[in-house]
Amino acid sequence: MTTVESGGPGLAQERRVVTSIPGPRSQELHARKAAAVANGVSQTLPIYITAAGGGILRDIDGNQLIDFGAGIAVVNAGNANPDVVSRVQEQVAAFTHTCFMVTPYEGYVEVAEALNRLTPGDHPKKSALFNSGAEAVENAVKIARRSTGRDAVVVFDHAYHGRTNLTMAMTAKNMPYKKGFGPFASEVYRAPMSYPLRDNEAAGTKLSGEDAAKRAISQIEKQVGADSLAAIVIEPIQGEGGFIVPAKGFLPALQAWCNDNDVVFVADEVQTGFARTGQMFACEDEGVVPDIITTAKGIAGGLPLSAVTGRAEIMDAVHGGGLGGTYGGNPVACAAALGAIETFERDDLPAKAAHIGEIMLGELTTIRAQHSAIADIRGRGAMIAIEITKPGTLEPDPELTAAVAAEAHANGLVVLVTGTYSNILRFLPPLVISEELLREGLGVLSDAFDAVDK
Ligand SMILES: *Cc1c(COP(=O)(O)O)cnc(C)c1O
Repeated sequence: MTTVESGGPGLAQERRVVTSIPGPRSQELHARKAAAVANGVSQTLPIYITAAGGGILRDIDGNQLIDFGAGIAVVNAGNANPDVVSRVQEQVAAFTHTCFMVTPYEGYVEVAEALNRLTPGDHPKKSALFNSGAEAVENAVKIARRSTGRDAVVVFDHAYHGRTNLTMAMTAKNMPYKKGFGPFASEVYRAPMSYPLRDNEAAGTKLSGEDAAKRAISQIEKQVGADSLAAIVIEPIQGEGGFIVPAKGFLPALQAWCNDNDVVFVADEVQTGFARTGQMFACEDEGVVPDIITTAKGIAGGLPLSAVTGRAEIMDAVHGGGLGGTYGGNPVACAAALGAIETFERDDLPAKAAHIGEIMLGELTTIRAQHSAIADIRGRGAMIAIEITKPGTLEPDPELTAAVAAEAHANGLVVLVTGTYSNILRFLPPLVISEELLREGLGVLSDAFDAVDK
């Protein structure tokens, strides 16, 4: 029988490091993992979890780590969130699957209604549900192509959209996501992103969001042509690419160009969605109303679910039977989503995320004053990162980044490394983390910097 313990908000909210990290029982399990699981599925931190809740992950050796990862921005409403647990328990005891395309059920419709209501814009909207973020992005492209009758798709430098064949083509980074996995899907074109830290250095002056958009649009017009283009797909704040926040004005200018040219503007909010950035969706920050929005990660408290939500006339351009999948919008996942959404709204988790962001920015600014390797602090709400370079330059320092992360892990703080140059430490705590634990985690991070960056 698999070892699990009782989790959720009742789990003691304290950091405890009682063995080396990973401890002996985790190491034992990791040897079993190495023998049984494909090497391609690798781990950031091989501690084997038995319970989680609030801001804590508890492992099989009894260590309790502060969670600044939330399973990659998934358990925004907290692990084993009670609203999720109770709805899932009720659903799982009623029925677990019928296939929505065969005999439907209310939960799917309720999730679609909630997404149509919560996503930006008050135009008529419709939704379709799938299993993963990549699947949502693939379906957004299918829908945009069908509704425009065009083939081409534009994505951006540093973009991450998934690991399936089409989304690998859309993802920018070769290693580890694409290397050796081609040939890739065609008709995917890449445009320059607005990346303030690096753009400004390259331009020798501040490149405005509008000018960065002009640069991208000019390239799109020359290399693709608006009348061949079905969609622009963009993360409003890039996730795996390094929490790159485009300069103000960039997203609205792209959206306006799309509107003028009948190009579908797709916001990939798989990572930024569901209260993470201090608003329900990151597009809201500049009043950007996407034609289609893709969501997944934070949607269902960790159960596999994703969605495409868009203008009704675009969504309905697809013929009956053209969208779907055996498990898409599984009833248990829908029940979980309704529980998570209930928590987001009732407990005003967007406001919690904004508060977390203020604390993180303050503490990180203090750490930066001691460590000139921190070239940038950026992000919004509870989606904050630091970019680490050789002091006084923009040369990425992935070694120092890895060393800080390893030191933090050893002292009971889960942080994730990301970015095109693997020199970004990103912080994505569950939005239900206590302020005390959040500050303690930032203290562990500060100590980690002091220990490895002397
Ligand atoms: C994680 C992610 C995806 C892919 O989601 P999966 O559920 O892993 O397929 C797509 N887009 C963005 C922005 C993501 O962060």
